[in-house]
Amino acid sequence: MKNDEIDLGGIPVEVVRKDIKNVHLSVYPPLGKVRIAAPLRMKLDTIRVFAISKLAWIRQQQHKVTAQEREAPREYIERESHYVWGKRYLLKVVEKEAASAIELKHSHLLLQVRPGTTVTRRQEIIDEWYRNQLKAAVPPLLENWQRVIGVKVNRVFIQRMKTKWGSCTPATASIRLNTDLARKPRPCLEYIVVHELVHLLEPTHNTRFTALMDQFLPNWRIQRQTLNRLPVRHENWLY
Ligand SMILES: [Zn+2]
Repeated sequence: MKNDEIDLGGIPVEVVRKDIKNVHLSVYPPLGKVRIAAPLRMKLDTIRVFAISKLAWIRQQQHKVTAQEREAPREYIERESHYVWGKRYLLKVVEKEAASAIELKHSHLLLQVRPGTTVTRRQEIIDEWYRNQLKAAVPPLLENWQRVIGVKVNRVFIQRMKTKWGSCTPATASIRLNTDLARKPRPCLEYIVVHELVHLLEPTHNTRFTALMDQFLPNWRIQRQTLNRLPVRHENWLY
């Protein structure tokens, strides 16, 4: 089925029909494309009214995502800023004929590479290190929260994700976490872990879902705000 499109005074909005209960609005990088996921039987006029009511928010998000895209790409050179668990470190590159290594020392992220290591390879080494940060941080959180929430996860994938911080497939009890969470303050990771685990009880973002989040992690809105505010690709959840 072809998706509908609404024109919001020059802003095209793609409407995707899904078997969901609530309207879900997203603005995607790099160009600020707007998409609305809407319940199958919701009238296009109703969706249009909803979209118009969110116009200011849409403009603001578009401004934000396109501004992010304009940020200089990482070059993995000296004194570049890199965030680890919400704290800023300056990159220091040490060229040495030895296996690559990364170490956090005071306010520096020390990257040891062989002389002549390309930017792409430096990026891979750092990305892998971030992944390992998450791999170490996630198990204790899971252990605690699976017990508290009363669910069991089969598999956890930690991967690069372009538009989401995490996702959950209740059918297979698997969750996915965005590698970039290792750049954000630790409570943000906990919020995403709890959010995805709660999806094992309630797959959609309905009022029951919100009530469960309020019950398990009363301050979850603060972490969501932090994630939405920090400059990184993200998805916004609206109810
Ligand atoms: Zn969700």
